[in-house]
Amino acid sequence: MEPTTATSPLLLFPCPGCNSQLYFSPKSQQLVCEHCGTKVAIDKSTDLIKENNLRQQLNAGGDASVTVEQLVYKCTRCGSQSAFTSETPTFTCSFCNYEAVNPVAYKTRIIQPSGMVPFKVDKQQSLDIFKTWIGKGWWAPGDLKEIARHDALHGIYLPFWTYDAQTNSTWSGYGGRYYYETEHYTDSNGNRQTRQVQRTEWIYRSGTHDHFFDDILIGGATELSQNEYESVFPYQLEELVNFDAQYLSGWKADVYDIAVNDGYDKAEAIMKDSIYEACASMCRIDTYKGLEVSTSYSNQTYKHILLPLWLCTYAYKGKSYHFLVNGQTGKIHGKKPVSTTKVVLTILAVILVVIAFIAMTQG
Ligand SMILES: [Zn+2]
Ligand SMILES: [Zn+2]
Repeated sequence: MEPTTATSPLLLFPCPGCNSQLYFSPKSQQLVCEHCGTKVAIDKSTDLIKENNLRQQLNAGGDASVTVEQLVYKCTRCGSQSAFTSETPTFTCSFCNYEAVNPVAYKTRIIQPSGMVPFKVDKQQSLDIFKTWIGKGWWAPGDLKEIARHDALHGIYLPFWTYDAQTNSTWSGYGGRYYYETEHYTDSNGNRQTRQVQRTEWIYRSGTHDHFFDDILIGGATELSQNEYESVFPYQLEELVNFDAQYLSGWKADVYDIAVNDGYDKAEAIMKDSIYEACASMCRIDTYKGLEVSTSYSNQTYKHILLPLWLCTYAYKGKSYHFLVNGQTGKIHGKKPVSTTKVVLTILAVILVVIAFIAMTQG
C-alpha cells in the first residue's frame, strides 16, 4: 500500500509554557515538561470502566482481519517525516524525538480499552529494582550491571483482558480414608513378626460448588506468554482509571492481537483448574480418586484495559535474557545468567575447605 501522510488524528502534548513535549510522569501522576518544569493535571475519572457482556460480544463477531496501513507522519514541530503503521499507538519523530500518540491505533480493533493503570514506577526506579535483584544472587556476573547503561529497557502499556464469570459445578468421586492393619510375616531369620500396613477405604462422595470469579487477568498481546505476564502479577485493578491518551505521552503502547474469545478460553482453563482443586479438597478425606467435575459458566463479562510493564531484553555472553518489572508495583521477574567463573571458584573454595577440614581432623 502507498504510504499516506497522516495529519489530524495524531495527538501531541506540547508544553503550554515552552512548547517542548509533555511526558506522563509516574512520580507526579501528571504531564510534566522536563524543560521548564510545567505540570498539567490529568482528570482521573473511572466512570467509563464497566463490565461488558461477553455473549453479546461473541454474537456480534470478532475482529475482522485488519489491514495494517503504512503511514508517514510529518512532524508539526520540526517538519521531518517518520514512518509508522496505523496500529502503532505511540511513536517517535526520528528527527526531534517528539513522541506522538496515535489514538487511531486502538480503533483498528473492535474493542477499545476502557480503562488503564498509569505507570507508577519510573525508569530510574525500575533500574534500581533490577540492580538490587541482580546483585542479590551471589554468582550474578558483575558486568551485568552494565545493563543500566544500555537503552534496552522500555516502559510499555500492554493490552489485557479481564473476565468475570459465575460458575456452578457438581462433582462426584471417591474419598479415601487410610487405616492400618496388623500383618504377620516371617522375617529372613524365620521368626514370626508383625507390622502395620496402610490400607484405604474408598467412600463415594458428591456435592456442588458455586463460585464467582472476579477479574481473571489475561495478557492480550502475544509478545509475552501468559506465564510471563503472571510472573509479575498481581496488578491492583482498583486503581484503574479511564483510558486517556495523555498517559501514553512519552511511553510505548501496544494493541491486542489475542481476540476476546481466545482470551476467554484461557480464562476458562484457569477457572476450570481452580474449580477442580476446590472440588478435590471437598472430595478428599486422606486422598481421593475418580473425581468428575461438571461446570456451567454464566454471566460472563469482560473488560479491555492497558497495564504498565517495564521490559528488558539483553544479551549476555551470546545468550538472550529478559526481565520484567510490574510498572505499578515494581515486582520483578527474570532469569539470572550464571557466571561460570564464579561457579567454578565457588566449587574450588568448597573443595579447599573440605581438604582443610580433613587435614585438621586427621592431623
Ligand atoms: Zn515547558
Ligand atoms: Zn520532529
